[in-house]
Amino acid sequence: MSPRLSASAPLDQISEDTPKELKRTALSFEVIPPRHDADAAKIDRLLATLAAYNPDYIAVTSSQRSGWLEGTAAFIEKISRDTAMRPLAHLACTAGTEEELVGWIDTLVDAGVRGLLALRGDLPEGGMPEGHLPHADSLVRLIRRWESDRVARLAAGRLAVGVACYPNGHAESATPDEDIDVLLAKQRLGADFAITQLFFDAEDYVRFAQRARLAGVRIPLIPGIMPMTSRARVERMCQLSGLAGPTKVLDQLAAATSPEEEKEIGMQITASLAKSVMNAGADGLHIYTHNNPDITTDLLNRIGVTP
Ligand code: FAD
Repeated sequence: MSPRLSASAPLDQISEDTPKELKRTALSFEVIPPRHDADAAKIDRLLATLAAYNPDYIAVTSSQRSGWLEGTAAFIEKISRDTAMRPLAHLACTAGTEEELVGWIDTLVDAGVRGLLALRGDLPEGGMPEGHLPHADSLVRLIRRWESDRVARLAAGRLAVGVACYPNGHAESATPDEDIDVLLAKQRLGADFAITQLFFDAEDYVRFAQRARLAGVRIPLIPGIMPMTSRARVERMCQLSGLAGPTKVLDQLAAATSPEEEKEIGMQITASLAKSVMNAGADGLHIYTHNNPDITTDLLNRIGVTP
């Protein structure tokens, strides 16, 4: 395992040479519940491809599009039935009232989940509805309360609770300090690990991790890596995530003279970013697969991870 990032790790040590011990570093994937009319064979191929890497866990998103947790729970049941991958469910405060969230946790644990990513979700127009938890820290607290009320059901085990963190700051945060304070609060309330929002420069991740460590954050901060296959995709993801477009990356993609060249440039940038954060001592790699097995395999090949 690569050494943990220390608060004193110098930024000038960020390099994209292939880390010697990459294979022993944590690896996880994010997938999206398929639509009802999705091609079953494609989904089977996605799961078989990802399972071949024996990831530490596979995280399944939840959103209004997937009927909140309905699509998530159904996909997790399929993953548990068809593969040996350990599923983790994204659970957002926007998915329901406190009582409804307790019901969802019951359902997800029945479906085989032993890990949750506690999120607030994107605020609906008009703000968070009445009876919903206001922030992800309250959800971490709720999950830990659920857990202590049902110790027997978990055979005295624990749920792994993850949270989101933001190397470039959350769009609603007043200052970068607020992001660190919130992460500390989540850790204090029982978060075991954090997965980062997209970022496009390894230095942003390393600086954020260093500031977090100095402030007392001890949980792993797992870099979320999105394969950058086109300028349009990067722009769309930035828009959805409330991030400023990364000018340098967008300019490099814009210089391509064909879609194939654009994809090649984007994948090279992504692989270089992944290698740089690993070499800087990141605790693992979390790949946003967008349910695309070929792009995921391509990226992992480029950074030296084989099935
Ligand atoms: P919070 O931690 O609540 O933070 C939101 C804002 O409120 C921040 O500015 C924060 O500083 C501030 N804040 C936090 N706590 C407090 C407090 N106690 N008092 C005052 N201010 C506070 N969304 C989905 O709907 N479904 C998904 O599956 C999903 N998956 C994601 C996976 C990852 C890895 C990431 C990074 C994001 C994901 N999101 C998902 C998006 C996420 O829901 C949004 O980024 C959302 O806007 C914020 O979520 P959060 O959990 O960080 O919220």
